[in-house]
Amino acid sequence: MITEAITPSTLAEQTAAQTAGWRFDNSYARLPDYFRAEWKPTSVPHPRLVVFNEVLAQELGLNPAALRSDDGAQIFAGNVLPEGAQPIAQAYAGHQFGYFALLGDGRAILLGEQLTPDGRRFDIQLKGAGQTPFSRRGDGRAALGPMLREWLISEAMYALGIPTTRSLAVVLTGEPVYRETALPGAILTRVAASHIRVGTFEYIAARRQPPEALKILADYTIQRHYPLLADAENPYLSLLYAVMERQAKLISQWMAVGFIHGVMNTDNMALSGETIDYGPCAFMDVYDPTTVFSSIDTGGRYAYGNQPQMAHWNLIRFAETLIPLLHPEQKQAITLAETALETFPYTYGRYWRENMLAKLGLQPSSSTEDIVLIKNLLDWMHHRQADFTRTFRLLHPQALPEEDLYQQEDFKNWYAQWQQRLAQQAEPLQAVQARMQHANPWIIPRNHHVERALQLAVEQGNFHYLKLLHEALAHPYEERPEFATYAEPPTERMPGYKTFCGT
Ligand code: AMP
Ligand code: MG
Repeated sequence: MITEAITPSTLAEQTAAQTAGWRFDNSYARLPDYFRAEWKPTSVPHPRLVVFNEVLAQELGLNPAALRSDDGAQIFAGNVLPEGAQPIAQAYAGHQFGYFALLGDGRAILLGEQLTPDGRRFDIQLKGAGQTPFSRRGDGRAALGPMLREWLISEAMYALGIPTTRSLAVVLTGEPVYRETALPGAILTRVAASHIRVGTFEYIAARRQPPEALKILADYTIQRHYPLLADAENPYLSLLYAVMERQAKLISQWMAVGFIHGVMNTDNMALSGETIDYGPCAFMDVYDPTTVFSSIDTGGRYAYGNQPQMAHWNLIRFAETLIPLLHPEQKQAITLAETALETFPYTYGRYWRENMLAKLGLQPSSSTEDIVLIKNLLDWMHHRQADFTRTFRLLHPQALPEEDLYQQEDFKNWYAQWQQRLAQQAEPLQAVQARMQHANPWIIPRNHHVERALQLAVEQGNFHYLKLLHEALAHPYEERPEFATYAEPPTERMPGYKTFCGT
């Protein structure tokens, strides 16, 4: 329990807090103390709001007018605590690139859970809010570039219809952070269904004490994300299946838009099924399953094509933590877990097929020929170094794409097979085309635009390009000619293009 009362320090702040619409509950803070540390954000000298997501604020039941001012900057910087907040840093562990480590929020503070007018519950977390008991050697801070990047990409993912944490605000702290060189410091306000990770279970499993801790966490997770499972015959086995299902679906959605998370460590896999932790993530331009952008992923562990296997690997770690809950006899518990885990490739395969068929305008099917049709197109893209997003978007059931690349014999052969397959579907081609437009984005966050926008913002304080890019990404399935520049693939490949974790 928080012992010290937290009250806004001046009358003006108090008024803002009252009208801002905060409605916190703090169920995670009420869990036993080994789940978290009570900890406040460290104040910063000159907070300035540079991004404020007013639409999201409204959805959360917040009052944008009360928060877009300096009062908002004070809150999103952690200088002033909104009424009802009970700030904590969460404890967790994780396998990072295959190796187990004790982690915890080293630079994030959970303010509490905002209850929305429509009865939902969202974590409000300040990322970059100063050191915590889990900081190890880190400074607890974040640089502006990576926080703007998380805002831009997480909001783009949301617009693409992919489950994700969201970004409510970015503030400049007025203090530099040192990452080889001095950079402007910033804090991101992250909104998430929760921050329970596979690594949270790993932390509790590794601790072993007290014995009831695992059950407390599993019950909490079920209650928060899978309430219908509470009445299942074996709720914990059902939880395993349900988490696998959501991850299978999520990763298939990533694959369908060419998203590469970049650092799929178990501490970055959320039990809610949301995409979380936008560090070195990036979208693939030219189709190549070995694509890796992250500067720290030298072995290509989290390459585009490895993501399903890595999700499976993480889920095995998750299942291991659940063993004591699955069955009183360990041997039987292991058999239950193994049987469940064996289904992952099939569950994933089912979602992947469904998504990829939709991209080709085809109804769900389990025919092997359809899978061959998808794979042949991907192989062709790989061979011809074709752009993944653009190729799908240009596909039209009634006409070959005009560009030279698509006039080659090998493409025409594939196209003829596709047309034959469409003909079996007894659906007007215009209807097929209309459906395809909802499966194939016209625009994705292209690395060359993201980099340019971030560079202008960080180095010149010019946010114009970034805001336009953000707007361009807000309706990704609509072709909007005024944003055409932002949809363009790079004119040449970006050899050696690297993204950084931003820690
Ligand atoms: P990430 O790579 O962002 O998933 O972070 C991995 C772990 O490192 C988490 O426990 C973070 O809280 C911690 N961490 C990252 N950056 C910092 C920092 N600047 N100061 C303290 N801890 C950090
Ligand atoms: Mg992380």
